[in-house]
Amino acid sequence: MLTSRPSARSAEIMARARARFPGGVNSPVRAFGGVGGEPFVAKRGKGALVWDADGNEYLDYILSWGPLVLGHAPDVVLEAVSRAMQDGTSFGMPTEREVELADKIAERMPHMEMVRFTSSGTEAAMTIARLARAITGREYILKFEGCYHGHADAFLVRAGSGVATLGLPDSPGVPAALAKLTLTCRYNDLEEAARIAREYPLAAIMLEPIVGNSGFIEPLPEFIPGLRKIADETGALLVFDEVMTGFRIAFGGARERFGVTPDLTALGKVIGGGLPVAAYGGRRELMQNVAPTGKVYQAGTLSGNPLAMAAGLATLGALTQEVHDGITAQTGVLVQGMRDIAARHGVPFSASHSGSMWGFFFRDEPVHTYDDAKLSDTVLFKRFFHAARRRGVSLAPSAFEAGFMSSAHGDAEIAETLTRLDDALGAAV
Ligand code: PLP
Repeated sequence: MLTSRPSARSAEIMARARARFPGGVNSPVRAFGGVGGEPFVAKRGKGALVWDADGNEYLDYILSWGPLVLGHAPDVVLEAVSRAMQDGTSFGMPTEREVELADKIAERMPHMEMVRFTSSGTEAAMTIARLARAITGREYILKFEGCYHGHADAFLVRAGSGVATLGLPDSPGVPAALAKLTLTCRYNDLEEAARIAREYPLAAIMLEPIVGNSGFIEPLPEFIPGLRKIADETGALLVFDEVMTGFRIAFGGARERFGVTPDLTALGKVIGGGLPVAAYGGRRELMQNVAPTGKVYQAGTLSGNPLAMAAGLATLGALTQEVHDGITAQTGVLVQGMRDIAARHGVPFSASHSGSMWGFFFRDEPVHTYDDAKLSDTVLFKRFFHAARRRGVSLAPSAFEAGFMSSAHGDAEIAETLTRLDDALGAAV
């Protein structure tokens, strides 16, 4: 088993990158802050594989943090984008592909009666906050610890200490006055959510229906139906941030998986098939409040970009129920295989998946909250991560991120992954 790999070219590129970008990266998680060591400089990807700048090959479970549900550079997406490109790369005018992609989303998620495309999940979540505030005439938003909704000011907020609930800025530059309008509560803590909703007039209750941003954390059975009830009783809008879960945890997303319909939904990642696309949407009468039919302003020069729409259409077109079920089954094999490996090595471990999104913690007890996740063995995680990487398996470089699976990960790839992870855990413990 290969346990050391050439890295001179990656190191050289990162040295140049550090002179140009803070931390050498254009998004912080890529700097490997959670695990240490030199970041992964990607050169090329195909199917389940990605190659770094030194030519090392990895079985990839980052998959661009979720979008690549068909794997890297699928022919169907490459062809669609290159066909679209012949007609022009951007118009700043309506195009038919935008309507087609919105139709395709509504086919699977009928509650997305109207949508607006944006270029990032951050924009989608940020606009939902504005829209919910405008619709309800209220200013408070309730979010949950460990959920990430992009980097708009309203969401870079952490819980106040002790009994205080009012949010505190989680980043310098976020005005304290604005952070106070974002209340935070523990994920899966229905009682606390109900208390906050009774005490504060909430415009929105927003959550990742399955958390992928503090590891992979599933809601307890009563949590999402309970939030729906609280929202209905208190006049708040219920918002699912499905930027990560959309078209992954179930063919029709969280509504299908949990049988609860949100008022507004944010989507991203898979719907752009690896190009910059996100969206927000929901019931027609709510979405009509967006400009120009309504007064809630939101815009974007490259929103609905034709190449991005083509990539999204090709991706959702190829992601049939059968393909989705196949990826789900492969994810189940990987997760069960990892449980077996951990048991063989006598390591505290829990792993789970929903559809093609998965995660694991080095911890025996169930993980229902971000606090639970933080009690997992992150030191072992770091060793395991690096051991896996040296053996050609690319896992998320943080104990607090979800993993992903693609239709390009077949039986052989999963079996090979498990062999390497077995060896990696043996070296890490
Ligand atoms: N919401 C969730 C649930 C996410 O996971 C992310 C990104 O990972 C975002 C919003 C922000 O999306 P973007 O990175 O496209 O701005």
